[in-house]
Amino acid sequence: MSVNGKTKVFGLLGNPIEHTLSPYIHQLFYDELDYNGVYNPFFVPEGMIQEAIKGMKGLNIEGLNITVPNKESVIQELDDIDPITEIIGACNTIVRTKNGLKGYNTDWIGLQMDCAFNQVSIRGKDCVIIGAGGAARGVVAFCCMEKAHSITVLNRTVERGSQLKEIVEMVNPNLLFKCGSLEDLHLVEEGSIAFQTTTIGMYPNVQECPINNDEFYAKVDFAVDIIYNPKETLFMKKLGVYGVKSINGLGMLFFQALKAFELWTGEELNNIQIEQCMLKLKKKVYELD
Ligand code: NAP
Repeated sequence: MSVNGKTKVFGLLGNPIEHTLSPYIHQLFYDELDYNGVYNPFFVPEGMIQEAIKGMKGLNIEGLNITVPNKESVIQELDDIDPITEIIGACNTIVRTKNGLKGYNTDWIGLQMDCAFNQVSIRGKDCVIIGAGGAARGVVAFCCMEKAHSITVLNRTVERGSQLKEIVEMVNPNLLFKCGSLEDLHLVEEGSIAFQTTTIGMYPNVQECPINNDEFYAKVDFAVDIIYNPKETLFMKKLGVYGVKSINGLGMLFFQALKAFELWTGEELNNIQIEQCMLKLKKKVYELD
């Protein structure tokens, strides 16, 4: 559908922004539902997030995604915030409501939807999270919301890892929390579900891996590496040696976009439409036939 006077405008604020897949993903939804929308990447110069949000109001933009580096700082520009998003401290989706602009984090929901899509449940399971950056905060919230049994955070900077305990205390204080360095593998429970959330192993550094000790891989039952480029990280390859199944982060990216689309439009795709869109995305990103 071509842009006309009734087209709803959505977009992504970021810096850098050139390599985003989000316009492609949202266009898949518009095409699937014959929805009259357009999704534009907006480069936000450093220090200009306040002006960008004012622009959203002034231009009647329907909904925005937020990416690096403003997921945290944008919160103070909003009129309302979803409670779990406030606890995570990072907002990637802004929705217009009758009370003004409301912030959501659909990254953790994207992970939740992707795990459900892959029929993976972490309820009652021991989880290990590698990394403690912005993405790891959402993964901790996900483990809490899904009622995992325990979380072990392994991070280069242990102090940063231990800060994630605050999320557990606020969302699900019954959950056991441990934290250590990337070498503290004795903290990892046998049969754990692992979430790799660092930037290590991302293209072009595909020969890097956050944990090289095989002791770790022998203790894991299933894993998600939230990196999606390359398709199979070295971390995932090492898991494969032990016969451990893993998924990459493309599904999480896809579903965070789908959840944002649902929040903005009230529209939903059925399972067949979701599978078709997912397949098209995989073909584009991994250049499959
Ligand atoms: P971030 O806030 O910058 O955190 C980076 C994390 O990586 C920290 O834990 C950091 O440890 C660790 N790290 C970086 N370089 C390291 C090194 N050389 N050795 C050891 N640890 C290192 O980044 P983020 O926003 O959480 O994003 C992390 C990754 O998640 C990125 O690859 C991003 O693309 C991906 N992501 C994917 C999705 C998706 O939808 N699939 C969504 C969000 C993010 P320290 O604390 O010690 O610095």
